[in-house]
Amino acid sequence: MEEELLSKSQLEDLTYPCPRLRDFILDDNLPALGFSPGNGHIRKLPNVDLGALDVLPLELLQGLLSQLNLYTLTGFRRVNRRAIEVVESIPQYKAVTTHARNALRGILSIETGQWISCETVYEKLCTAECEQCGDFGGYLYILTCKRVCFLCFSESKRYLPLRRSHAIRKFGVDRQILNTLPCMRSIPGTYSPNEKKCHERLTLVDSESAYRAGITLHGSFSAMEQYVLNISAQKLQEFNRRTSQVIAEGSGPTTRRLHRPRTEDLFDGRSGNPIRFMAIVRFPWLNRVSQELEWGFHCIGCQKSHCSRPLHYRRKFTVVSFSEHLRQYGNIRNGKHHQE
Ligand SMILES: [Zn+2]
Ligand SMILES: [Zn+2]
Repeated sequence: MEEELLSKSQLEDLTYPCPRLRDFILDDNLPALGFSPGNGHIRKLPNVDLGALDVLPLELLQGLLSQLNLYTLTGFRRVNRRAIEVVESIPQYKAVTTHARNALRGILSIETGQWISCETVYEKLCTAECEQCGDFGGYLYILTCKRVCFLCFSESKRYLPLRRSHAIRKFGVDRQILNTLPCMRSIPGTYSPNEKKCHERLTLVDSESAYRAGITLHGSFSAMEQYVLNISAQKLQEFNRRTSQVIAEGSGPTTRRLHRPRTEDLFDGRSGNPIRFMAIVRFPWLNRVSQELEWGFHCIGCQKSHCSRPLHYRRKFTVVSFSEHLRQYGNIRNGKHHQE
């Protein structure tokens, strides 16, 4: 069945581009854009070629390079002027640097380039939906390159990067395993709509990857859970033993301070948790057919709903998904949905 889409003026009456709150994600903490080669700058022509690689047809070379991880691709780009010319001619690279420059800058800043290729970022750029819930996803989670919506990245466990010690405790993995998983180094700054200041540069690991590594290591979710519980119990037992020992010896100036081992999960303030915002950049959708860029918009009828889906002010829509939203929850009169 063909959907009846709203006209531009109807859309303007029923939607708005963004809430008044600022998100304070990684975009808001990246250094201001300075001089950038390739940004309208006239560069000298290359006088050295790429050696054996120049034998390949350009299209084949572009195809190969777009599949390299971004860390390697950026290294290759630094080889000489011909390498810059070739990298900047890759159609996927051009689209990403033109429409989603902060995604690339963010990936290189938090050092996740070795897990993400230019091709993957481009594929995400051309897909509108959040990978978790199917709504329009206006953001990219760049620890592993997943398109997400605000509600998913601020609420789902998957998009909460973990400190290494937390991942070890939570999934029973060791440092050697963690070293093989996607991890990032945060940029100090202000994060989350609550504007939390973070002065340290944190090393954080992708939660989903650590969870899967834990299950692989222990054989099943229940075996992993049991292992984690046993380790916690052992640590608590050891703490109780040492505490009794200190008490028996009597307290004095030489008494050691004992800290109860952390066994419970850390508090997660969801949309108030700054760590959830450290690997998030705003990310438009590039419609492959029309080549138009969409940032998504919000529904006036949901503007005052702050509790839960399906009517929630943080949900974003495209022209098509908004028509479906109105069909499901009714047209909007006086700023509210009404089922006819
Ligand atoms: Zn979502
Ligand atoms: Zn609505």
